[in-house]
Amino acid sequence: MIRHVPYRVAAPNPAGSDDWRSKGTCASVDPDVMFPHSDPADIGNAKRVCARCPVSRTCLRDIIRHEGDKDTYARHGVVAGLTPAERRAVYRLLQERGQGAA
Ligand code: SF4
Repeated sequence: MIRHVPYRVAAPNPAGSDDWRSKGTCASVDPDVMFPHSDPADIGNAKRVCARCPVSRTCLRDIIRHEGDKDTYARHGVVAGLTPAERRAVYRLLQERGQGAA
């Protein structure tokens, strides 16, 4: 089984400060919580972690920029309260609106 590395670890931002990542609510939960499979209850649990996160807006901007136009299957976990498919939809919506990748 492939164990995904939590986003906060897998995608450091070499150009800027990553201090915000340590402030994320997910920093204090089992990483497996943020990588649910298809069970809606598990997805809901992950989304609830993000719902009480003080850095969710920064996280959303960062993940949309970081993932870019990746296909849904190449995105992993719930990040910024969004599933891979939801993040791809946000990215495409921003593209359609000419707002780039956040
Ligand atoms: S919004 Fe979610 S994934 Fe992003 S830092 Fe906060 S808890 Fe972690």
